[in-house]
Amino acid sequence: MPMSIHDTTNAHELATGVFADEVVAVESGSRLADFLREATAANHSVIPFGGRRSLATGNPTEPARFGLDLTGLTGILSYEPADLTLSVRAGTTLADIQRALGEGGQELPIDVPFPDVTTIGGLVATGFVGPRRLRSGSLRDLLIGCEFVRGDGLLAKAGGMVVKNVSGFEIPRFLHGSWGALAVLTSVNLKVTPMARADGTLLAAFDDVGLAIDAAHRLIAAEPSIEACVVTSDRDGVRVSARSVGRAGAVAASLDSFAQCLGSEVARLEVEESRAFWRELVNQYAEDNSKTVLALGARPRDIRALATRIGDVTAGDESAIQVSPGFGSLRIMTPTDGEDLATGIVALAAADGANYVLESASPALRSSLPTWGAEPEGIEVMRSVKRQFDPGGILNLGRLPV
Ligand SMILES: Cc1cc2nc3c(=O)[nH]c(=O)nc-3n(C[C@H](O)[C@H](O)[C@H](O)COP(=O)(O)OP(=O)(O)OC[C@H]3O[C@@H](n4cnc5c(N)ncnc54)[C@H](O)[C@@H]3O)c2cc1C
Repeated sequence: MPMSIHDTTNAHELATGVFADEVVAVESGSRLADFLREATAANHSVIPFGGRRSLATGNPTEPARFGLDLTGLTGILSYEPADLTLSVRAGTTLADIQRALGEGGQELPIDVPFPDVTTIGGLVATGFVGPRRLRSGSLRDLLIGCEFVRGDGLLAKAGGMVVKNVSGFEIPRFLHGSWGALAVLTSVNLKVTPMARADGTLLAAFDDVGLAIDAAHRLIAAEPSIEACVVTSDRDGVRVSARSVGRAGAVAASLDSFAQCLGSEVARLEVEESRAFWRELVNQYAEDNSKTVLALGARPRDIRALATRIGDVTAGDESAIQVSPGFGSLRIMTPTDGEDLATGIVALAAADGANYVLESASPALRSSLPTWGAEPEGIEVMRSVKRQFDPGGILNLGRLPV
């Protein structure tokens, strides 16, 4: 039986406020299948984990019986540069994957905070996306197959190593964003892309968030090859950051045309400086778990009004805002004692029909504000899928509303 939420004396703290009585490491799919079959039979709750960077996201829960450490499940199973495909065990870090692909002149075109610890299984499970989604898509678009173990211990494969191989349900994409509540991934197969030879970023300054978002929308419409475009508002002021990757001549020409379209230029960053800038930008929101981070999703056409209202209520405080106007995502980072502020922002989002996720917050705020926003319409379908994949209800018990 799980202990009470107050009795964590002998438990392992996997992440802030997330406990397990015991930690077990598995290094093979068959061992994992045995473990989950036995856990289901004994009604033992399990929290699978990789780099633990997103383990504190979710509804507060009682300590699980087991923390399931997947960081030993590492290594590249196959890499075919000529086919642009990779199969890799789920506990492999993003840094190791990018290093191996780099030797073949290729990469996964995604922005990931703290790649030295973040695992590919954790990334698929959380379904986070970064600014490069604008042109390169998300990890979901790169996922072509996987091996996984369901909550009841069934080891299965879905998809394959070719891009078009789906009939019926597309299980790999279905598991993307399931937060480890349906199954534990043991390996994933991915499409990879040639690494861009050149990389450049143009920074432009604006007087307010609304004007910056208008300019960003104009730029995205005029420049279909733009890799990423983000509006930030923080203590450095309001900026549009626009990125181009590709051949050196094409990147230089793109930055000229970005400057012309935006009508402003503060700085131009080239190759390594540009890459470092985007690394820093995605790290910024994930690095400090003493801050509250709220992610909002809205229709791109509504994002200006929402960001302007949020800019008004956060004006003069320590909050920072990051908007990706091209796909309607908005992140706000506020000081941790900003409970009233977070509640106010959530109310603004609800009034605009936007949804939200409380990505990072103190245990107290996670208890008072629902992590996953309003219950989605298809919640009963999701619950029935959960019952099929995890009939004992042992995986990530209570963290999601399913
Ligand atoms: C505030 C904040 C901002 C972020 N911003 C970005 C961003 O801009 N771009 C981006 O890409 N990411 C972002 N992330 C996510 C970050 O990259 C996470 O570290 C990553 O998504 C999870 O990897 P992990 O190995 O640390 O997983 P963990 O934190 O260990 O686990 C995360 C979830 O995945 C489950 N899980 C882990 N491994 C598996 C597996 N093999 N099979 C099934 N389920 C599994 C866990 O049970 C848990 O529910 C952000 C995170 C936070 C907290």
